[in-house]
Amino acid sequence: MDKYQILKKYFGYDCFREGQEEIIDTLLLGQDAFGIMPTGAGKSLCYQVPALLMKGITLVVSPLISLMKDQVGTLNQAGIHAAFLNSTLSAGQYKRALQLAGEGTYKIIYIAPERLLTESFLAFALGADISMVTVDEAHCVSQWGQDFRPAYLKIAEFIRLLPKRPVVSAFTATATREVREDVLAALELQEPKMITTGFDRKNLFYRVSAEADKFAEVMHYLTEHPTESGIIYCLTRKIVEEVCARLWQKGIPAVRYHAGLSDRERQKNQDDFLYDAAPVMVATNAFGMGIDKSNVRFVIHYNMPKNIESYYQEAGRAGRDGEEANCILLYAPKDVVLNQFLIDQETEHGVLTEEEMELVKERDRERLKQMTFYCTTNGCLREFILRYFGEYTTNYCKKCSNCLTEFEEIDITQIARTIAACVKSSGQRFGMTVITDTLHGSRSSKLKQNGMAKNKYFGSLADVPIYRIRQVMQFLSHKGYIFVTKDQYPIVKLTETSEALFDQTPVLMKAAKEQEKKPAADQTKQGGNKQKSHFAGTDYALFEELRKLRMEIAKTEKVPPYIVFSDKSLRDMSARKPKTKAAFLAVNGVGEHKCRKYGEQFLDVIAKWEEK
Ligand code: ADP
Repeated sequence: MDKYQILKKYFGYDCFREGQEEIIDTLLLGQDAFGIMPTGAGKSLCYQVPALLMKGITLVVSPLISLMKDQVGTLNQAGIHAAFLNSTLSAGQYKRALQLAGEGTYKIIYIAPERLLTESFLAFALGADISMVTVDEAHCVSQWGQDFRPAYLKIAEFIRLLPKRPVVSAFTATATREVREDVLAALELQEPKMITTGFDRKNLFYRVSAEADKFAEVMHYLTEHPTESGIIYCLTRKIVEEVCARLWQKGIPAVRYHAGLSDRERQKNQDDFLYDAAPVMVATNAFGMGIDKSNVRFVIHYNMPKNIESYYQEAGRAGRDGEEANCILLYAPKDVVLNQFLIDQETEHGVLTEEEMELVKERDRERLKQMTFYCTTNGCLREFILRYFGEYTTNYCKKCSNCLTEFEEIDITQIARTIAACVKSSGQRFGMTVITDTLHGSRSSKLKQNGMAKNKYFGSLADVPIYRIRQVMQFLSHKGYIFVTKDQYPIVKLTETSEALFDQTPVLMKAAKEQEKKPAADQTKQGGNKQKSHFAGTDYALFEELRKLRMEIAKTEKVPPYIVFSDKSLRDMSARKPKTKAAFLAVNGVGEHKCRKYGEQFLDVIAKWEEK
């Protein structure tokens, strides 16, 4: 069999995606490879296909139990013998698995990094024919990242101990230079071929919304997309609790996930989400690494995350099956303050010196600034992200809220001057909220206490909406006309260029046309991402029937539904309406094994449907 036959037979796909073939060919030639590809690009196939073509066993070092379980489940469903070795196995099960591995039962074995150098595993590995060691989520080797796993540093030592050095492949979705260098050095990759694919995920629709009532926005989205499964990320445990409780009140069967819950509840909630028993997951960033659920149709960030890297990774959990998905960020200026606070609170991992820690914090503040720019830019959101990762594209993707909003240049000279004058007159002592409230003439008691109610500029922009005053301040900050300090309570200061606001040149700012200021959820509609819109040409009702069958099978087999078939496969099925097994095999994601196993049941539902 060759790689194309493997792809079709086991995975049911007709062609490789960008980067996959190059990596597979490299590994099959015996050369190390390092693949840097975004979430959802299809990294697993890059090592699974060669693993099946190589003579011996492939060991996959993987950081998370859930990830291993999922991957092994998918492989077994496809008819490939695979196993995992981690702490979820009892001593007896572990021994038995090792014994079977020793007898050559498995082609692919997933293992937790901590196990590699244990006596029992080494005894097996030294006597086995290991063709390849794959390091998944390779960025865990880097001390710079939040996912650092000390045991990853031992992988190179393990490989050195093997009687014959296997091919080594490493994969990550983290694109920063520091991480790349750490991976290359710590894993001792030998003249690896580096393969970086484009970071663009064309099926994702990006939207930033600055509407004041975030919860109403969430509810609006959920009401418009009632059967979709998705994740709502919040910055803190407390916010997770609040949002989840409010969703329950509204009758939404959401589940929650954060580090403060018991292991048992976390596991149960995660399973409920994966198995589609609970469609909505409300979580902190503790949830998600290694979550392979392919039919996540939306990722809503209830708060702005701390940097673009995290945002792209978390938002990237949407639409892994290649189907349309929404990534929505609900931004509020308060999120910046909360993130600043979290950075200040960061404590060192016990590995970094105080000086290094200060450097990390400095870098985190800079990244936060970029994230804030993303939330406030009027430019193309996709282009912003790609440029951040060093990729240059057109600045009009037609598939983000900014590209779909009509903008106009407005003259903000007078507002800008009044802001600067107010900052000056109040001694540059206050943050954005106080300045905005003063200018707008708010009756808050805080302004009475701090004396701003008596400021000369109090109420001088009473006829300008609050959101516009804020927007102009953000704009002035980007352009360097004012400066917002990075303290726990950020303060607005004037800069050397503030004076320029008062010369003859008018100050112009791009802003959404007034008629576009409808509830933001309508813009998603505009983006063509309403639930059924991407089912054009497919039969939505049949799709629902097939989904029901998938759920029944999943329950019987105790696997998540997307492991039986992805949404993409079901959609393709409902469009093609195959009548024979041969036609069924042509459906995207249907390999021989799955065709044999499920073909009849699905063909049956389709036939009955046609008869109606
Ligand atoms: P990553 O690990 O890069 O985040 P995965 O390996 O989980 O991504 O793949 C994401 C999804 O894409 C999976 O559902 C996988 O089956 C699918 N996929 C991978 N390669 C292909 C391909 N060549 N054609 C179609 N679908 C693919």
